[in-house]
Order: sequence, then C-alpha cells, then structure tokens
Amino acid sequence: MSVSEVLDKVDSGVEASLEILKAYCRLPSVSAERRAQPETAAFVRGLLADAGFEAREYTADGGPPVVFGQRMLDEKRPTLLMYQHYDVQPVDPLDEWRHDPFDPVVEDGRFLARGCGDTKGNLIAQLLAVKAWQQVAGNPPINLKFVVEGEEEVGSPHFPAFVRDHRDLLRADGATIEGGDHMTDGRPKMELGCKGILYVDLVCRTAKVDQHSSYAAITPNPAWRLIECLETLRAPNGRIRIPRWYEGARGPTPEELRYLRKTSLRVQDLKEYFGVRSLRGGSDPYRVVRTLVYSPTCTICGIVSGYIAEGTKTVNPAVARVKLDFRLVPGMRIEAQLQKLLDHLRDRGFDDVEVVPHKEQLQPSAISLKERVARAAIEGARDACGTDPEVWPWSAGASANGFFNDELGVPSLSGPGVSYDGSNYHAPNENIRLTDFRLGARHAAAMIGRF
Ligand SMILES: [Zn+2]
Repeated sequence: MSVSEVLDKVDSGVEASLEILKAYCRLPSVSAERRAQPETAAFVRGLLADAGFEAREYTADGGPPVVFGQRMLDEKRPTLLMYQHYDVQPVDPLDEWRHDPFDPVVEDGRFLARGCGDTKGNLIAQLLAVKAWQQVAGNPPINLKFVVEGEEEVGSPHFPAFVRDHRDLLRADGATIEGGDHMTDGRPKMELGCKGILYVDLVCRTAKVDQHSSYAAITPNPAWRLIECLETLRAPNGRIRIPRWYEGARGPTPEELRYLRKTSLRVQDLKEYFGVRSLRGGSDPYRVVRTLVYSPTCTICGIVSGYIAEGTKTVNPAVARVKLDFRLVPGMRIEAQLQKLLDHLRDRGFDDVEVVPHKEQLQPSAISLKERVARAAIEGARDACGTDPEVWPWSAGASANGFFNDELGVPSLSGPGVSYDGSNYHAPNENIRLTDFRLGARHAAAMIGRF
C-alpha cells in the first residue's frame, strides 16, 4: 500500500463527491436567517456516518446543533481534529448572481453555489480523502475527529459553550481550521496562524450642539481635533507611533522567510485587481508578502463629522467619529495594545477623545513550522501536488486560530482546502475551481498519511 494508491482513489472519487457537494449546497443553511439548520446538521451527521465516523449532534443553550464525529483507531496513534462549519452567508444582492445560489452549477471548470468554498467544499473534499484511505487500507492510519458547527458566519455565539462542556471530545494532537486557499497558479497555500484585531471607535465631542460656522473663530472644531489626534497614531509610511506598540511582536524566523521567498504572489495582478498604483513593498513579490504578513496596521475604516451632502452648509459640527482597526501580529495581546493606546492619548493630552472598544476582537495566534500538524500539512502538499506549498507564518486576516492554539491547546492551521483567491467568499457567485477541489482532497489524504 502506498500513498500514491490513496491519491489515485481520491482522483477516481471526485465526480461522486461533487454530486454530494451539490446536495449539501442545496440546503440553504444561512445562519443569519436561522434557515435550514436542523436538516443541514442531520445531513452532515449522515455524511460522517457514511465515512465510518461515530457521529452525533449536540446542542448548547438553544443554539443550532454542533455535529461531532470520530474514528478512533488506537489511543496510541496521533489524533487530527478537523473543524468546519455548515452554515453559510446570506445571498444578497441576489440579482448579481448568475445562477440560483442554492442550485449548484458546474461551468467552465468551476462549481458555483453559496457555501461551496466557505466551507462546504472543504468538508466534502476531506471526507473523500478519508474514504480513499478506507478503500485502500481499510482504515486511515491515524485517529480522526470532525467538529462541524452551524453559526460560524454569525460569530459562533454557542460554540464556546459546546467546547467548555465537551473539552475531552476535542482533544487532539493537531487541528485544521476550515480550509486553505490555492494560489492563482494552483499551489496550495497554508497559513500557520492569523493576525488579531483590535477595533475601536474614537469619538471627539467639542460642543453640546452644532454651531453656525461663523462661531468657528471662537469655538473648537471636533474634526480638526480628531485629525490632530489621528496623526499621532500613525506615520505616513504606515509605522504606528504609539509608544511600545511593537513590543512583543513576533518577527520572522529564517525558515519562515525561506518559504516566503518562494511566494508565487502576482504583484501586478493584485495591483490591477485593487486598481492601485503601488503597493508597500514595491514590485518584488517577496517584499510585498513580507510586508503584508509582518506589519501591524492602524486603519481608518470610516470617518465622519458635520455635513457632507450636496451643496454647502456652513456648520461647525459638535462631534466627530472615526472607526479604527488595528491588526495585531502574534506576540501582541489585545488588552495590552488597548492599554498602550489609552496611555498614549492621555499622555498626549487627548482627554477629550473617547475610546470605545468593540466586542468583536480576535487575538493573534500562530504555531511554529516545527509543529507536527505544520510538518504534515507541508509534506502532504508536496506528496499531493508535487510542489512546495505556499507557506505563510500567519494570515493577514483574523481567524479562530487563537481559540484552538491557546484555549483548547491544540496546534492548528488553515487546513487543506478547495478555494482560491477568486472564490468570492461572502459575495455573489461564490465558486471553486474543480482542479482545486481535486488537489484539496489529495492534500487532505496525503496530510493524513504524514501526520
Ligand atoms: Zn465565511
């Protein structure tokens, strides 16, 4: 028995798996609308049972079911936990879809349906990998667990309670979260963590009421005041000016940089896609990726004050507000960074600027390239695709890695996946490429073999 036999079995199972994916995507499991949750959970339980898992549904605090399945072969062998969610995003604007989002279509080498990339296709591809092992060897060589929740797209409000009550079920030697992307050229992309996010509003109120702007000679203006404040936060080159901001931030290791030097990111494509003239990092893909991954950011997401509609209105406004997101790299902690921001504003005399932190914060977190799960994913990608994967030490976005790494104590990464950067997550015409579906399933099979 060799891994190549398992990979051949994966290839020959792709067609049948795409039919299963169609049935899965026909279930309109939009969590924001609480649609089709019990029937989709039951469908997922059936999929797991068909693939030889002991599968059950759990409910916590009135939330929709969490589906859990396991194939425990031998306590002495390592255990891989795979996390997915069966819910999807709402579909509006509906008239921008070329097809009914819940009636899957295959055209031009792509599979289109809401949820096919985020993240129903990942589950089906991973189960195809398990079934290929079963056909060739009778069993996968390791213990496997799946946990599939139904509320990820609305912030997983009940999942922490499930985890708290069933910590034992989720014990594992490594975890994969949803699925990784592929690069435009088809190389699988792996992210060993994520940045975190600290989101705050800054509000500056300088008067009880708006005033006729003739009074501006003697009354303060909150927009100018907020601009002065913002200028103390960030330099024009993007560097954050808040004292001690970078303390603790994890820098690159030589091994991480070795992978980043092989990036197949297409800088020109990215510039054209965004319609921007230049990127920080220049035109060298390695420098662009390195800057993207390792730079903490401070971004004005929106800013508003006074009158901005048609024509003129001579007003001196009473209040100005800005929404700021700070992306944090692993090694930073949300609470500490917030304190540094508050200290800075106090020290610089901005007591008139109120800081309102939002609830939606995510800690940054990343594992080392030396972890078993990281090595298995990288070696598995080489086996499955015949090429080095694209490996980033963490993603530029925020994700649930911290929850697995730090709270559950299971080292995690974004696992073998089926999507690519044109998959239109959360947007109309969500799609995956059929080639990525096959490669994602092969990658999952090979990773199981290497774990
Ligand atoms: Zn999503």
